[in-house]
Amino acid sequence: MSESSALEAASSFAELNLSPEIQRALDDMGYQTPTPIQKQAVPLVLAGRDLMAQAQTGTGKTAAFALPLLQKMLPFANTSTSPARHPVRALVLAPTRELAIQVHESIVAYGKHIPLRSTVVYGGVALGAQTPQLRAGVEVLVATPGRLLDHAGSRMLSLSQVEYLVLDEADRMLDMGFLPDLKRILDLLPKNRQTLLFSATFDDNITRLAQSFLRDPLKVEVARRNTAAETVEQLVHKAREEDKVDALIRVVTAREISQAIVFTRTKLTADRLGRQLQRRGLEVAIIHGDKAQSERLLALEGFKQGKTRLLVATDIAARGIDIVELPCVVNYELPYSPEDYVHRIGRTGRAGAEGMAVSLVAPDEERLLAAIEKFINRPLVPTPLPEVAPPAAPVWTAPVAVQAAGPAASQRGRRHEPVCALLMPPVQSQEAPRPE
Ligand code: AMP
Repeated sequence: MSESSALEAASSFAELNLSPEIQRALDDMGYQTPTPIQKQAVPLVLAGRDLMAQAQTGTGKTAAFALPLLQKMLPFANTSTSPARHPVRALVLAPTRELAIQVHESIVAYGKHIPLRSTVVYGGVALGAQTPQLRAGVEVLVATPGRLLDHAGSRMLSLSQVEYLVLDEADRMLDMGFLPDLKRILDLLPKNRQTLLFSATFDDNITRLAQSFLRDPLKVEVARRNTAAETVEQLVHKAREEDKVDALIRVVTAREISQAIVFTRTKLTADRLGRQLQRRGLEVAIIHGDKAQSERLLALEGFKQGKTRLLVATDIAARGIDIVELPCVVNYELPYSPEDYVHRIGRTGRAGAEGMAVSLVAPDEERLLAAIEKFINRPLVPTPLPEVAPPAAPVWTAPVAVQAAGPAASQRGRRHEPVCALLMPPVQSQEAPRPE
């Protein structure tokens, strides 16, 4: 595999020579300079190369493939109503529904001044609801693999004119669970196409496998292997299983965390934890694979809009989901796979913002912690749980007490009043509510 250094990376959007329509969309979104993966990948995609691009999550991967593909399809943009004038030219596959939706939203935003059609198809909703758009024709199709095959099987969709294939979160798409579907999809596509693999992690097996359907790919690597963004502070606190709910509330309160995704390993734990936190007065939404698609979307949307403070989630939300300026991720339980740790904590510290990843580690999870340390090649030393500020002194006379509390305390009180009030049981306390 050749390395990408042969081609100079651009340092500004102007140097990327994007069309005025795309540049205008970037201006609308307030993007000023390309991110490192965009600087490297855009010229290579424009030059027609296949890519294996490894970049940290949240570093602008979507634009890195969407911008050059939109640019390449620009000559085909048309306002004809004939479906034949709108064949699928670019197919983007993503492993989860939420990621597919998000990638599609970005493509719509980047292409908003270009008359190219796009849509997204994913499972969990009626097939028929998605067919009118496919029948009318779309140039860009974002899809989860299973649903794409459903549509292809019902002959609603022809993939015979696909020129560009993108696998987002490619390592997931190439693992055992998705591989059979992926192989069937590859069989439906023209061999003569440009293929782009984007992922935060690639292991050697996957690299070998990917080579079988890429043409002389270039490797683009803008991050150290298997790392999360440097801007994410990674903290570890030891907590016994039965103390974790209190530990979590203590972390969120003491650090004044305005929003966090809280990851569990199982749907069962996600449901149980969500209910426990709700009973303790926190605004919590729950998202996992057994929830109806409409519930999943509602939970995610509400969280993105700041309506809920905590999103309790299984690893379904670990990949690719972009929540602007999410300040914190909590690993309520460590994942079995160290790669999932990197993906989970990649939900924070995105696009150069600061982020915090807190892992609550029970004694029987220490081997998982050791595996993660090995994978990311850095130690994660446990630190004590943060102290919670004592409650304000009893109020003797209202005017004095308000002043004595000071601006910081009053600010804290305003933002998180319900939780501070509920927190007080210490983590090891016998009175602390026990898990169900
Ligand atoms: P992605 O890795 O594609 O999910 O992008 C992560 C976040 O970075 C999204 O909120 C994008 O809108 C944002 N983003 C991507 N590229 C840029 C850029 N060049 N300048 C500013 N923000 C960007």
